[in-house]
Amino acid sequence: MALIYCKECGHQISEMARVCPHCGYNPSYDDPNRSNKDWLTAFLLCFFLGTLGVHSFYANKTAAGVIQLLTLGGCGIWALIDLIMIGVGSYRDGEGKYIKNV
Ligand SMILES: [Zn+2]
Repeated sequence: MALIYCKECGHQISEMARVCPHCGYNPSYDDPNRSNKDWLTAFLLCFFLGTLGVHSFYANKTAAGVIQLLTLGGCGIWALIDLIMIGVGSYRDGEGKYIKNV
């Protein structure tokens, strides 16, 4: 059985443990499908610069960003859709991970 280090208190705990017996930290809070990109940054970039595809570049979606830059965010519609997707936490970064607020 593999051991991992608790991110909160640094004690070694079982990989299978639901919670750390030392501090109560729950490792499953760390969602592997969650992007390490900052949600607020992505949202603001899309809000102010979405028609330039800046939020797509931020999310490592370079191809989408270039197309949005050339089409002014798909005439604003694509940028608006992305803004809504970011707002509800359904927007994915270039690795397919969700950029979430919480
Ligand atoms: Zn702990």
